[in-house]
Amino acid sequence: MKAILPVTRTLKALDGAVARFRAKRETVALVPTMGALHAGHLALVRLARKKADRVVVSIFVNPAQFAPHEDFASYPRRLSADVGVLGREGVDLVWAPDTAVMYPQGFSTRIAPEGPALAGLEDAFRPHFFGGVATVVAKLFGQVRPDIAVFGQKDYQQLKVVTRLAADLDLRVKVIGLPTVREKDGLALSSRNLYLSAEERVRAPALHRVLETCAERIAAGRPIKGVMASGLTALTRDGFAVDYLEARHAETLAPVKSAKDGPIRLLVAARLGATRLIDNLAV
Ligand code: AMP
Repeated sequence: MKAILPVTRTLKALDGAVARFRAKRETVALVPTMGALHAGHLALVRLARKKADRVVVSIFVNPAQFAPHEDFASYPRRLSADVGVLGREGVDLVWAPDTAVMYPQGFSTRIAPEGPALAGLEDAFRPHFFGGVATVVAKLFGQVRPDIAVFGQKDYQQLKVVTRLAADLDLRVKVIGLPTVREKDGLALSSRNLYLSAEERVRAPALHRVLETCAERIAAGRPIKGVMASGLTALTRDGFAVDYLEARHAETLAPVKSAKDGPIRLLVAARLGATRLIDNLAV
């Protein structure tokens, strides 16, 4: 019979569980999530299992990365279903602190990431976001002290920010990025897809299709500016309110003028009704 997956909710319980792994000289991988788990999260878990002896999954809806007008209160929370799924995936430990454990009274520190966090993409529309992400990820790394941490390329700018964070603060964590897991029709899996109406769900894969078309045209040598302008027109025609659709250097996220400035990554954020979706694709 498989042991029940432990869910730790205090630092003391977490420390005890991680110490037991370390006593056996086992390596630890951390998969940070906000829960409402889908197959994309499970792909991160499976990669983590290949890379380390023990896998810790954190589930924490981080208030510090939501602006007051955003969906913190309504963000889907399904802890017991998530724990059931993670148990079947062979995860060793769930770290699910309450907000008061993560940010106790008197908490007064916030990390201010620069570089990729100021690329003018997500940061231009969610200025509070990467500070909140960097702060909670630094805390998660300090709490769990993993050898590796697995993040999704789905949140491409976030992956770059976290990779820099780990290097810049000497956190001794190897950050690994996993390619985006998609539905059959191309839509990137996301907890926020639950917000889409049936009619919006039918239109949503256009986001990925437009990225594919833009990537093909750029790879074929068409000028980037014109390609991205027609991508924007196509998305708008499909009913998206586009925050950005950009071709950037895949590593620095700096703007690129031609394919020669590459490797290129296309990044998009757009709203379909009340739901904001992001996606990205390599050229
Ligand atoms: P979230 O719970 O949305 O904060 O995401 C937790 C982690 O899962 C992040 O590293 C995300 O990039 C990753 N992730 C979310 N959706 C996907 C996906 N469709 N494919 C791969 N990774 C994903």
